[in-house]
Amino acid sequence: MATTPRFFNTLTRATEPFEPSDGRTVRMYTCGPTVHDFAHIGNFRAYVFEDLLRRFLRFHGWAVRQVMNLTDVDDKTIRKSRAAGVPLREYTRRFADAFFADLDALRIERAEHYPAATEHVPEMIALIARLMEKGFAYRSDDGSVYFRIERFPAYGRLSRLDLAGLKPGARVAQDEYEKEHVGDFALWKAWDEADGEVAWDSPWGRGRPGWHIECSAMSMRYLGESFDIHTGGQDNIFPHHEDEIAQSEAATGRPLARFWLHCAHLVVEGQKMSKTLGNFYTLRDVLERGWTGRETRYVLLATHYRQNLNFTFESLGAARSALERLDGFRERLEEVAGGAAAGAPPAWAAEAQKAFHDALADDLNISGALAALFDLVRDGHRAMDAGRLAPPEAGAVLAMLREWDRVLAVLTPETDGPPTEVVDMARLREEARRARNWGEADRLRAGIAALGWEVQDTPGGPKLRRK
Ligand code: AMP
Ligand code: ZN
Repeated sequence: MATTPRFFNTLTRATEPFEPSDGRTVRMYTCGPTVHDFAHIGNFRAYVFEDLLRRFLRFHGWAVRQVMNLTDVDDKTIRKSRAAGVPLREYTRRFADAFFADLDALRIERAEHYPAATEHVPEMIALIARLMEKGFAYRSDDGSVYFRIERFPAYGRLSRLDLAGLKPGARVAQDEYEKEHVGDFALWKAWDEADGEVAWDSPWGRGRPGWHIECSAMSMRYLGESFDIHTGGQDNIFPHHEDEIAQSEAATGRPLARFWLHCAHLVVEGQKMSKTLGNFYTLRDVLERGWTGRETRYVLLATHYRQNLNFTFESLGAARSALERLDGFRERLEEVAGGAAAGAPPAWAAEAQKAFHDALADDLNISGALAALFDLVRDGHRAMDAGRLAPPEAGAVLAMLREWDRVLAVLTPETDGPPTEVVDMARLREEARRARNWGEADRLRAGIAALGWEVQDTPGGPKLRRK
């Protein structure tokens, strides 16, 4: 029986054994991007951590239902789309598309749902109405609706706030604010001129939802009122997650999530990478400098999620060497295996397998898991040097690496293959040729060429090559 996973729960500040409440499917919510710009690699540190968590939960044997929201309406998105003179939806679509392309480049597995805030306003209004009914919310003179934190004694539990000096009734309207400004926070913001065309009707007048209510409404919509894990970066603890808990639990009387997992920041020279500080790189910036998505993933993955990750370009160089070492090992194993079916693994490999799982089960101890991987490489080379690794054993180690890569997703080389649209066009061209529709086939060949690829008809079928 595999070791039960344990995770550090921000709610209790303790490492606790974890199991999904129904014993089968982990229901998990992850705060997603605000799509007002390209995400930076600090954001991707959070998404890679959540990907490691998701992949490990599946590796351990559970199913996962993960929801990641797209915040496509908040103070910033409105401000920026107006400055650009583009409707909100059009403005955010571009960055949402870029976000998904970046997820693919970083081999981040897709969540089951990506709800957009603007498509769930009725759910948010319903939740606010529930809070009004129960007396946890009130409408201010300008038509905004606020959550009354005084009514919710557990306020501050997640972030361990000391509310002793609190001024009752003080309010904050911004989506993001500091602990010094703790107060009643906006659930619904009455329309004002800065909002331009962005507004919805509600029982309290025209306006738009606050940021925090978005996540409460969407998590409950897709995962139920109480689910297993809620994640985000450390900066989300206050006010965002504190407010999510207050709104959701005040409405339902049930815990929103049992486990809260937060990753530490990606930092540059000691400071959090952020748009505001201007010390950021997007994934595009990194790729343009000649590094790959695979190498970037390795860097984002290799530091334990609760430790600050100091980003440097040297660390990408170290990732490249580590990956070359792993590629060399795999290639040598393939030679030794010579296509033999996997047999029983040698003892040192079976030991590494257990060490790998147990490390990750210990609050995603990635250093331990990578140590198990590099021990496997060392022992494997030794066995091959001594001619002591039989082909079925080499096959078993290869199978093990493939299995581990379901969690790590760094072991397969960058394919650098044709993009899907080129593959699709090649398939259509082949169908056209079979139907002797030569005109269409030629048109498709030209389309493929325009994208920088070439179809070569070989005895084994058509092959795509870069021109
Ligand atoms: P945002 O788009 O700012 O809401 O951030 C999206 C996600 O990235 C959230 O989970 C944040 O906590 C996380 N995040 C933002 N900056 C960093 C950073 N420098 N390091 C790690 N995670 C971050
Ligand atoms: Zn959120």
